[in-house]
Amino acid sequence: MEIFHIGAECYPVAKVGGLGDVVGALPKYQNNAGQLVRVVLPRYETKFIQENEFDAVFSGVVKLGISEFSFNVLKERTNKLGYELYLIAIPTLFDRKEIYGYEDDIERFLSFQIATLDWITTRNEIPTIIHCHDHHTGLIPFMMQCANKYERLQTVPTVITIHNSIYQGQFGFDKLYYLPEFDLSKAYLLEWDNRINSLASAIKCASAVTTVSPNYLNEINDWAYGLESLFRLVKDKSKGILNGIDTEVWNPATDNMLETNYSIKNFQKGKQENKEKLCTEFNLDPKKPLFSFIGRLLEEKGADLLPHVAAMALSEHPKEINILVLGSGNAEIENQLTHLQTSFKGNYNAVIGYNEELAHLIYGGSDFLLMPSRVEPCGLNQMYAMRYGTIPIVRRTGGLKDTVIDFGDNGNGICHDQASVSDVCYSIQRAVNLYKDKKKTNDIRKLGMQIDHSWESVCQQYIEVYNLILEQK
Ligand code: ADP
Repeated sequence: MEIFHIGAECYPVAKVGGLGDVVGALPKYQNNAGQLVRVVLPRYETKFIQENEFDAVFSGVVKLGISEFSFNVLKERTNKLGYELYLIAIPTLFDRKEIYGYEDDIERFLSFQIATLDWITTRNEIPTIIHCHDHHTGLIPFMMQCANKYERLQTVPTVITIHNSIYQGQFGFDKLYYLPEFDLSKAYLLEWDNRINSLASAIKCASAVTTVSPNYLNEINDWAYGLESLFRLVKDKSKGILNGIDTEVWNPATDNMLETNYSIKNFQKGKQENKEKLCTEFNLDPKKPLFSFIGRLLEEKGADLLPHVAAMALSEHPKEINILVLGSGNAEIENQLTHLQTSFKGNYNAVIGYNEELAHLIYGGSDFLLMPSRVEPCGLNQMYAMRYGTIPIVRRTGGLKDTVIDFGDNGNGICHDQASVSDVCYSIQRAVNLYKDKKKTNDIRKLGMQIDHSWESVCQQYIEVYNLILEQK
Protein backbone atom coordinates (compact mmCIF):
# COMPACT_ATOMS: atom_id res chain seq x y z
CA MET A 1 0.00 0.00 0.00
CA GLU A 2 1.19 3.50 -0.74
CA ILE A 3 -0.18 5.75 1.98
CA PHE A 4 0.01 9.54 2.03
CA HIS A 5 -0.39 11.22 5.42
CA ILE A 6 -1.17 14.89 5.03
CA GLY A 7 -1.14 17.17 8.07
CA ALA A 8 -0.13 20.52 9.51
CA GLU A 9 2.29 19.14 12.12
CA CYS A 10 4.76 16.27 12.33
CA TYR A 11 7.34 15.77 15.12
CA PRO A 12 10.29 16.50 14.96
CA VAL A 13 9.71 18.68 11.88
CA ALA A 14 7.02 20.94 13.31
CA LYS A 15 5.00 20.40 16.49
CA VAL A 16 2.51 22.36 18.56
CA GLY A 17 0.77 19.47 20.32
CA GLY A 18 -0.42 15.89 20.01
CA LEU A 19 -1.20 16.14 16.29
CA GLY A 20 2.54 16.52 15.70
CA ASP A 21 3.37 13.50 17.83
CA VAL A 22 0.86 11.30 15.98
CA VAL A 23 1.76 12.37 12.43
CA GLY A 24 5.43 11.92 13.39
CA ALA A 25 4.96 8.40 14.76
CA LEU A 26 2.11 6.54 13.00
CA PRO A 27 3.79 6.74 9.54
CA LYS A 28 7.07 5.45 10.96
CA TYR A 29 5.41 2.40 12.47
CA GLN A 30 3.31 1.80 9.34
CA ASN A 31 6.51 1.89 7.35
CA ASN A 32 8.08 -0.62 9.76
CA ALA A 33 5.01 -2.80 9.20
CA GLY A 34 5.79 -2.94 5.47
CA GLN A 35 3.70 -0.12 3.99
CA LEU A 36 5.12 2.55 1.71
CA VAL A 37 4.41 5.74 3.62
CA ARG A 38 4.86 9.37 2.68
CA VAL A 39 4.16 12.39 4.88
CA VAL A 40 3.31 15.81 3.46
CA LEU A 41 3.26 19.05 5.44
CA PRO A 42 3.91 22.73 4.81
CA ARG A 43 7.46 24.01 4.88
CA TYR A 44 7.67 26.24 7.95
CA GLU A 45 10.78 27.98 9.27
CA THR A 46 11.54 25.39 11.95
CA LYS A 47 14.88 24.25 13.34
CA PHE A 48 14.55 20.76 11.83
CA ILE A 49 13.86 22.16 8.39
CA GLN A 50 16.72 24.63 8.58
CA GLU A 51 19.15 21.92 9.69
CA ASN A 52 18.29 19.22 7.12
CA GLU A 53 18.73 18.89 3.38
CA PHE A 54 15.96 18.66 0.83
CA ASP A 55 15.67 18.19 -2.93
CA ALA A 56 13.05 19.92 -5.05
CA VAL A 57 10.93 17.26 -6.78
CA PHE A 58 8.10 19.33 -8.23
CA SER A 59 7.12 22.94 -8.68
CA GLY A 60 3.90 24.69 -9.58
CA VAL A 61 1.62 27.62 -8.98
CA VAL A 62 -1.43 27.53 -6.71
CA LYS A 63 -4.34 29.60 -7.92
CA LEU A 64 -6.47 30.89 -5.10
CA GLY A 65 -9.15 32.94 -6.83
CA ILE A 66 -7.24 35.80 -8.41
CA SER A 67 -4.10 35.28 -6.27
CA GLU A 68 -1.27 33.06 -7.41
CA PHE A 69 1.41 31.49 -5.20
CA SER A 70 4.46 29.67 -6.55
CA PHE A 71 5.36 26.51 -4.69
CA ASN A 72 7.99 23.78 -4.60
CA VAL A 73 7.66 20.25 -3.30
CA LEU A 74 10.78 19.34 -1.32
CA LYS A 75 11.81 15.84 -0.34
CA GLU A 76 14.00 15.18 2.69
CA ARG A 77 17.16 13.57 1.35
CA THR A 78 17.84 10.70 3.76
CA ASN A 79 14.42 9.35 4.87
CA LYS A 80 15.93 9.39 8.36
CA LEU A 81 12.56 9.81 10.02
CA GLY A 82 11.54 6.34 8.88
CA TYR A 83 9.32 7.47 5.99
CA GLU A 84 9.52 9.80 3.01
CA LEU A 85 8.99 13.37 4.14
CA TYR A 86 7.74 15.96 1.66
CA LEU A 87 7.35 19.66 2.36
CA ILE A 88 5.19 22.04 0.38
CA ALA A 89 7.14 25.29 0.23
CA ILE A 90 4.95 28.33 -0.39
CA PRO A 91 7.30 31.06 0.82
CA THR A 92 4.87 33.99 1.06
CA LEU A 93 2.40 32.00 3.15
CA PHE A 94 4.58 29.75 5.33
CA ASP A 95 7.94 31.45 5.89
CA ARG A 96 6.79 32.61 9.31
CA LYS A 97 7.71 31.97 12.92
CA GLU A 98 4.53 30.26 14.11
CA ILE A 99 2.65 27.33 12.64
CA TYR A 100 -0.85 28.72 13.21
CA GLY A 101 -2.60 31.82 14.40
CA TYR A 102 -2.47 34.12 11.39
CA GLU A 103 -5.39 36.05 9.90
CA ASP A 104 -4.85 34.31 6.58
CA ASP A 105 -4.73 30.75 7.97
CA ILE A 106 -7.63 29.78 5.69
CA GLU A 107 -5.70 30.97 2.61
CA ARG A 108 -2.47 29.35 3.91
CA PHE A 109 -3.87 25.89 4.50
CA LEU A 110 -6.15 25.92 1.48
CA SER A 111 -3.13 26.72 -0.71
CA PHE A 112 -1.23 23.91 0.99
CA GLN A 113 -4.03 21.45 0.22
CA ILE A 114 -4.34 22.54 -3.41
CA ALA A 115 -0.56 22.44 -3.97
CA THR A 116 -0.41 18.96 -2.43
CA LEU A 117 -3.12 17.64 -4.74
CA ASP A 118 -1.64 19.45 -7.79
CA TRP A 119 1.54 17.49 -7.13
CA ILE A 120 0.01 14.11 -6.23
CA THR A 121 -2.27 14.12 -9.24
CA THR A 122 0.67 14.52 -11.65
CA ARG A 123 2.72 11.64 -10.21
CA ASN A 124 2.94 8.43 -12.23
CA GLU A 125 1.58 6.31 -9.42
CA ILE A 126 -1.86 6.81 -7.93
CA PRO A 127 -1.74 6.42 -4.11
CA THR A 128 -3.60 3.58 -2.43
CA ILE A 129 -4.87 5.73 0.46
CA ILE A 130 -4.86 9.43 1.31
CA HIS A 131 -4.98 9.93 5.07
CA CYS A 132 -5.84 13.48 6.20
CA HIS A 133 -5.43 14.88 9.70
CA ASP A 134 -7.72 17.57 11.14
CA HIS A 135 -9.39 20.51 9.44
CA HIS A 136 -6.20 21.90 7.85
CA THR A 137 -6.48 19.05 5.36
CA GLY A 138 -10.26 18.68 5.54
CA LEU A 139 -11.06 19.92 2.03
CA ILE A 140 -8.86 17.32 0.37
CA PRO A 141 -11.51 14.53 0.28
CA PHE A 142 -14.02 16.97 -1.29
CA MET A 143 -11.56 18.26 -3.88
CA MET A 144 -10.50 14.73 -4.81
CA GLN A 145 -14.12 13.72 -5.23
CA CYS A 146 -15.45 16.81 -7.00
CA ALA A 147 -12.79 19.08 -8.50
CA ASN A 148 -12.43 18.57 -12.24
CA LYS A 149 -8.66 18.81 -12.21
CA TYR A 150 -8.27 15.99 -9.67
CA GLU A 151 -10.45 13.52 -11.56
CA ARG A 152 -7.54 11.08 -11.60
CA LEU A 153 -7.72 10.82 -7.80
CA GLN A 154 -11.50 10.47 -7.65
CA THR A 155 -11.51 6.81 -6.71
CA VAL A 156 -8.67 6.92 -4.17
CA PRO A 157 -10.13 6.16 -0.70
CA THR A 158 -9.59 8.85 1.93
CA VAL A 159 -9.47 8.83 5.73
CA ILE A 160 -9.96 11.83 7.99
CA THR A 161 -8.58 11.47 11.50
CA ILE A 162 -10.08 13.92 13.95
CA HIS A 163 -7.59 14.96 16.60
CA ASN A 164 -9.89 17.70 17.90
CA SER A 165 -13.35 18.70 16.72
CA ILE A 166 -13.21 22.16 18.30
CA TYR A 167 -11.22 23.51 15.37
CA GLN A 168 -13.21 23.18 12.16
CA GLY A 169 -11.70 25.56 9.58
CA GLN A 170 -14.88 27.47 8.76
CA PHE A 171 -15.17 30.33 6.29
CA GLY A 172 -17.83 32.15 4.30
CA PHE A 173 -19.17 31.15 0.89
CA ASP A 174 -17.75 34.46 -0.37
CA LYS A 175 -14.45 32.53 -0.61
CA LEU A 176 -15.95 29.64 -2.58
CA TYR A 177 -14.07 30.87 -5.65
CA TYR A 178 -10.79 29.90 -3.96
CA LEU A 179 -11.57 26.25 -4.68
CA PRO A 180 -10.61 24.62 -7.98
CA GLU A 181 -13.49 24.34 -10.46
CA PHE A 182 -16.16 21.79 -9.53
CA ASP A 183 -19.80 21.00 -10.28
CA LEU A 184 -21.65 23.55 -8.14
CA SER A 185 -24.47 21.13 -7.42
CA LYS A 186 -21.93 19.45 -5.07
CA ALA A 187 -21.48 22.57 -2.92
CA TYR A 188 -23.69 21.03 -0.22
CA LEU A 189 -20.75 18.75 0.58
CA LEU A 190 -18.83 21.78 1.81
CA GLU A 191 -21.59 23.34 3.90
CA TRP A 192 -22.37 23.24 7.58
CA ASP A 193 -24.42 25.88 9.35
CA ASN A 194 -24.45 28.12 6.24
CA ARG A 195 -20.67 28.29 5.99
CA ILE A 196 -17.94 26.29 4.34
CA ASN A 197 -16.72 24.00 7.10
CA SER A 198 -13.52 22.09 6.29
CA LEU A 199 -13.93 19.48 9.01
CA ALA A 200 -17.62 18.88 8.25
CA SER A 201 -16.78 18.50 4.56
CA ALA A 202 -14.13 15.90 5.39
CA ILE A 203 -16.60 14.02 7.58
CA LYS A 204 -19.10 13.97 4.71
CA CYS A 205 -16.68 13.10 1.90
CA ALA A 206 -14.00 10.85 3.43
CA SER A 207 -14.37 7.11 2.99
CA ALA A 208 -13.69 6.64 6.73
CA VAL A 209 -13.66 8.86 9.79
CA THR A 210 -11.48 8.05 12.75
CA THR A 211 -11.11 9.73 16.12
CA VAL A 212 -8.09 9.40 18.39
CA SER A 213 -9.88 7.44 21.11
CA PRO A 214 -13.03 5.30 21.30
CA ASN A 215 -14.55 7.30 24.13
CA TYR A 216 -14.08 10.60 22.28
CA LEU A 217 -16.09 9.13 19.39
CA ASN A 218 -18.92 8.37 21.83
CA GLU A 219 -18.74 11.87 23.29
CA ILE A 220 -18.86 13.72 19.96
CA ASN A 221 -22.11 11.98 19.10
CA ASP A 222 -23.59 14.05 21.95
CA TRP A 223 -21.57 17.25 21.76
CA ALA A 224 -19.10 18.38 19.11
CA TYR A 225 -19.35 22.16 18.78
CA GLY A 226 -22.31 21.90 16.42
CA LEU A 227 -21.16 18.81 14.49
CA GLU A 228 -22.79 16.18 16.73
CA SER A 229 -25.71 15.41 14.39
CA LEU A 230 -23.25 15.00 11.50
CA PHE A 231 -21.17 12.57 13.56
CA ARG A 232 -24.32 10.56 14.29
CA LEU A 233 -25.07 10.40 10.55
CA VAL A 234 -21.66 8.92 9.70
CA LYS A 235 -21.55 6.42 12.56
CA ASP A 236 -21.21 3.48 10.18
CA LYS A 237 -17.98 4.72 8.66
CA SER A 238 -16.47 5.94 11.94
CA LYS A 239 -14.06 4.27 14.31
CA GLY A 240 -12.29 5.42 17.48
CA ILE A 241 -8.67 4.27 17.55
CA LEU A 242 -6.64 5.08 20.64
CA ASN A 243 -3.37 6.82 19.79
CA GLY A 244 -0.14 5.06 20.51
CA ILE A 245 3.05 6.66 21.74
CA ASP A 246 6.42 6.57 20.04
CA THR A 247 8.31 4.36 22.46
CA GLU A 248 11.60 5.17 20.74
CA VAL A 249 11.22 8.87 21.51
CA TRP A 250 9.46 8.39 24.86
CA ASN A 251 11.64 5.91 26.70
CA PRO A 252 13.06 6.84 30.14
CA ALA A 253 15.86 4.31 29.64
CA THR A 254 17.27 6.12 26.59
CA ASP A 255 15.77 9.63 26.62
CA ASN A 256 18.72 12.02 26.31
CA MET A 257 16.62 14.94 27.55
CA LEU A 258 16.56 13.41 31.05
CA GLU A 259 19.19 14.09 33.68
CA THR A 260 19.31 10.39 34.57
CA ASN A 261 17.97 7.48 32.55
CA TYR A 262 16.06 4.75 34.31
CA SER A 263 13.84 1.74 33.76
CA ILE A 264 11.26 -0.11 35.81
CA LYS A 265 14.15 -1.80 37.65
CA ASN A 266 15.65 1.39 39.09
CA PHE A 267 12.97 4.02 38.64
CA GLN A 268 12.95 5.23 42.25
CA LYS A 269 16.53 6.42 42.10
CA GLY A 270 16.25 7.63 38.49
CA LYS A 271 13.10 9.64 39.11
CA GLN A 272 14.54 11.18 42.27
CA GLU A 273 17.62 12.41 40.39
CA ASN A 274 15.49 13.97 37.67
CA LYS A 275 13.31 15.54 40.34
CA GLU A 276 16.34 17.02 42.08
CA LYS A 277 17.48 18.56 38.81
CA LEU A 278 14.03 20.10 38.29
CA CYS A 279 13.80 21.29 41.89
CA THR A 280 17.22 22.94 41.77
CA GLU A 281 16.36 24.68 38.52
CA PHE A 282 12.94 25.86 39.64
CA ASN A 283 13.52 26.47 43.35
CA LEU A 284 11.32 23.64 44.61
CA ASP A 285 11.75 21.16 47.46
CA PRO A 286 12.79 17.65 46.28
CA LYS A 287 11.57 16.06 49.51
CA LYS A 288 7.96 16.98 48.77
CA PRO A 289 5.71 15.43 46.11
CA LEU A 290 5.90 17.28 42.80
CA PHE A 291 2.65 17.94 40.90
CA SER A 292 3.11 19.18 37.33
CA PHE A 293 1.07 20.35 34.38
CA ILE A 294 2.27 20.44 30.76
CA GLY A 295 0.12 21.77 27.97
CA ARG A 296 -1.68 24.49 26.14
CA LEU A 297 -3.10 26.99 28.65
CA LEU A 298 -6.67 26.92 27.40
CA GLU A 299 -10.09 26.27 28.90
CA GLU A 300 -10.39 22.99 26.96
CA LYS A 301 -7.40 21.75 28.98
CA GLY A 302 -8.95 23.03 32.24
CA ALA A 303 -5.97 25.40 32.50
CA ASP A 304 -8.20 28.22 33.78
CA LEU A 305 -8.65 26.11 36.93
CA LEU A 306 -4.93 25.84 37.55
CA PRO A 307 -4.24 29.21 39.26
CA HIS A 308 -7.11 28.59 41.71
CA VAL A 309 -6.14 24.95 42.22
CA ALA A 310 -2.52 25.92 42.88
CA ALA A 311 -3.48 28.69 45.34
CA MET A 312 -5.91 26.47 47.20
CA ALA A 313 -3.74 23.33 47.27
CA LEU A 314 -0.65 25.24 48.34
CA SER A 315 -2.62 27.01 51.11
CA GLU A 316 -4.21 23.75 52.30
CA HIS A 317 -0.88 21.92 52.28
CA PRO A 318 1.62 24.69 53.06
CA LYS A 319 5.18 23.48 52.49
CA GLU A 320 3.83 19.95 51.86
CA ILE A 321 3.72 19.91 48.05
CA ASN A 322 5.37 21.44 44.96
CA ILE A 323 3.55 22.54 41.82
CA LEU A 324 5.27 23.20 38.47
CA VAL A 325 3.49 24.38 35.32
CA LEU A 326 4.83 24.42 31.74
CA GLY A 327 2.65 25.87 29.02
CA SER A 328 1.48 28.79 26.98
CA GLY A 329 -1.81 30.00 25.59
CA ASN A 330 -4.41 32.33 27.09
CA ALA A 331 -2.65 35.54 28.25
CA GLU A 332 -4.81 35.94 31.36
CA ILE A 333 -4.09 32.39 32.54
CA GLU A 334 -0.39 32.94 31.81
CA ASN A 335 -0.44 36.12 33.96
CA GLN A 336 -2.29 34.48 36.84
CA LEU A 337 0.13 31.55 36.85
CA THR A 338 3.13 33.86 36.76
CA HIS A 339 1.78 36.02 39.60
CA LEU A 340 1.48 33.02 41.94
CA GLN A 341 5.27 32.73 41.90
CA THR A 342 5.63 35.57 44.41
CA SER A 343 3.05 34.12 46.83
CA PHE A 344 4.37 30.56 46.94
CA LYS A 345 8.14 30.89 46.53
CA GLY A 346 9.95 27.62 47.09
CA ASN A 347 6.88 25.47 46.40
CA TYR A 348 5.56 26.71 43.07
CA ASN A 349 6.89 27.73 39.70
CA ALA A 350 5.55 28.32 36.19
CA VAL A 351 7.39 28.35 32.89
CA ILE A 352 5.44 30.16 30.20
CA GLY A 353 6.43 28.91 26.76
CA TYR A 354 7.03 25.78 24.73
CA ASN A 355 10.04 23.66 25.70
CA GLU A 356 10.28 20.09 24.44
CA GLU A 357 13.35 19.22 26.56
CA LEU A 358 11.86 20.56 29.74
CA ALA A 359 8.65 18.63 29.07
CA HIS A 360 10.64 15.37 28.99
CA LEU A 361 12.40 16.25 32.25
CA ILE A 362 9.08 17.06 33.89
CA TYR A 363 7.58 13.70 32.88
CA GLY A 364 10.72 12.08 34.29
CA GLY A 365 11.03 14.04 37.52
CA SER A 366 7.43 14.58 38.64
CA ASP A 367 5.41 12.45 41.01
CA PHE A 368 1.98 13.39 39.65
CA LEU A 369 0.78 14.95 36.39
CA LEU A 370 -2.36 17.10 36.46
CA MET A 371 -4.78 16.86 33.53
CA PRO A 372 -8.03 18.58 34.54
CA SER A 373 -9.18 18.72 30.88
CA ARG A 374 -12.70 19.68 29.86
CA VAL A 375 -12.04 18.15 26.45
CA GLU A 376 -9.34 15.57 25.70
CA PRO A 377 -9.78 13.72 22.38
CA CYS A 378 -7.00 11.31 23.33
CA GLY A 379 -4.37 12.96 25.48
CA LEU A 380 -0.81 11.81 25.13
CA ASN A 381 0.55 13.44 28.29
CA GLN A 382 -1.00 10.84 30.59
CA MET A 383 0.54 8.04 28.51
CA TYR A 384 3.98 9.68 28.56
CA ALA A 385 3.60 10.29 32.30
CA MET A 386 2.79 6.64 33.01
CA ARG A 387 5.68 5.42 30.90
CA TYR A 388 7.95 7.66 32.98
CA GLY A 389 6.49 6.39 36.27
CA THR A 390 4.52 9.56 36.97
CA ILE A 391 0.98 9.08 38.22
CA PRO A 392 -1.66 10.92 36.17
CA ILE A 393 -4.45 12.86 37.89
CA VAL A 394 -7.18 13.21 35.28
CA ARG A 395 -10.73 14.25 34.70
CA ARG A 396 -12.68 11.31 33.27
CA THR A 397 -13.20 12.60 29.73
CA GLY A 398 -12.31 11.56 26.16
CA GLY A 399 -9.20 9.44 25.90
CA LEU A 400 -8.36 10.02 29.57
CA LYS A 401 -11.31 7.80 30.43
CA ASP A 402 -9.99 5.12 28.07
CA THR A 403 -6.49 5.12 29.55
CA VAL A 404 -6.62 5.98 33.26
CA ILE A 405 -8.40 3.98 35.97
CA ASP A 406 -8.54 5.23 39.54
CA PHE A 407 -6.22 3.48 41.99
CA GLY A 408 -9.26 2.90 44.20
CA ASP A 409 -10.33 0.42 41.51
CA ASN A 410 -6.83 -1.09 41.37
CA GLY A 411 -5.93 1.26 38.54
CA ASN A 412 -3.01 3.34 37.34
CA GLY A 413 -4.01 6.90 38.32
CA ILE A 414 -6.31 9.25 40.16
CA CYS A 415 -9.60 10.27 38.55
CA HIS A 416 -12.36 12.80 39.16
CA ASP A 417 -15.49 13.69 37.22
CA GLN A 418 -15.96 17.45 37.32
CA ALA A 419 -13.82 20.16 35.79
CA SER A 420 -13.92 22.09 39.05
CA VAL A 421 -11.35 23.48 41.48
CA SER A 422 -12.79 21.38 44.31
CA ASP A 423 -12.60 18.10 42.33
CA VAL A 424 -8.98 18.71 41.33
CA CYS A 425 -8.04 19.73 44.90
CA TYR A 426 -9.73 16.62 46.26
CA SER A 427 -7.63 14.50 43.88
CA ILE A 428 -4.49 16.32 45.06
CA GLN A 429 -5.50 15.57 48.66
CA ARG A 430 -5.81 11.87 47.76
CA ALA A 431 -2.41 12.02 46.05
CA VAL A 432 -0.80 13.59 49.13
CA ASN A 433 -2.16 10.74 51.27
CA LEU A 434 -1.12 8.14 48.71
CA TYR A 435 2.41 9.57 48.55
CA LYS A 436 2.85 8.81 52.27
CA ASP A 437 2.44 5.12 51.41
CA LYS A 438 5.63 4.58 49.42
CA LYS A 439 4.91 0.95 48.53
CA LYS A 440 1.48 1.66 47.15
CA THR A 441 2.75 4.70 45.24
CA ASN A 442 5.53 2.65 43.68
CA ASP A 443 3.17 -0.20 42.80
CA ILE A 444 0.98 2.27 40.90
CA ARG A 445 4.02 3.74 39.16
CA LYS A 446 5.12 0.25 38.09
CA LEU A 447 1.65 -0.54 36.81
CA GLY A 448 1.75 2.57 34.60
CA MET A 449 5.26 1.87 33.34
CA GLN A 450 4.25 -1.62 32.20
CA ILE A 451 1.27 -0.59 30.08
CA ASP A 452 1.88 -1.11 26.36
CA HIS A 453 0.73 1.95 24.45
CA SER A 454 3.12 1.33 21.56
CA TRP A 455 2.08 2.06 17.99
CA GLU A 456 2.69 -1.49 16.74
CA SER A 457 -0.76 -2.76 17.70
CA VAL A 458 -2.46 0.54 16.85
CA CYS A 459 -1.02 0.46 13.33
CA GLN A 460 -2.89 -2.73 12.63
CA GLN A 461 -6.20 -1.05 13.44
CA TYR A 462 -5.54 1.63 10.81
CA ILE A 463 -4.62 -1.06 8.28
CA GLU A 464 -7.98 -2.70 8.99
CA VAL A 465 -9.74 0.59 8.26
CA TYR A 466 -7.78 0.96 5.00
CA ASN A 467 -8.60 -2.61 3.95
CA LEU A 468 -12.28 -2.07 4.62
CA ILE A 469 -12.52 1.07 2.50
CA LEU A 470 -10.47 -0.53 -0.25
CA GLU A 471 -12.90 -3.45 -0.32
CA GLN A 472 -15.86 -1.05 -0.45
CA LYS A 473 -14.24 0.74 -3.38
P1 ADP B 1 -2.97 18.58 22.55
O1 ADP B 1 -2.61 18.01 21.22
O2 ADP B 1 -4.42 18.81 22.71
O3 ADP B 1 -2.17 19.80 22.89
P2 ADP B 1 -1.94 16.07 23.66
O4 ADP B 1 -1.94 15.54 25.05
O5 ADP B 1 -2.52 15.20 22.62
O6 ADP B 1 -2.60 17.51 23.69
O7 ADP B 1 -0.42 16.35 23.23
C1 ADP B 1 0.35 17.33 23.81
C2 ADP B 1 1.78 17.20 23.33
O8 ADP B 1 2.38 18.49 23.32
C3 ADP B 1 2.65 16.37 24.28
O9 ADP B 1 3.73 15.84 23.55
C4 ADP B 1 3.16 17.44 25.27
O10 ADP B 1 4.32 17.02 25.94
C5 ADP B 1 3.42 18.59 24.30
N1 ADP B 1 3.36 19.92 24.90
C6 ADP B 1 2.25 20.67 25.15
N2 ADP B 1 2.60 21.87 25.64
C7 ADP B 1 3.94 21.89 25.71
C8 ADP B 1 4.91 22.86 26.15
N3 ADP B 1 4.53 24.05 26.60
N4 ADP B 1 6.22 22.55 26.06
C9 ADP B 1 6.60 21.33 25.59
N5 ADP B 1 5.75 20.37 25.17
C10 ADP B 1 4.44 20.65 25.23
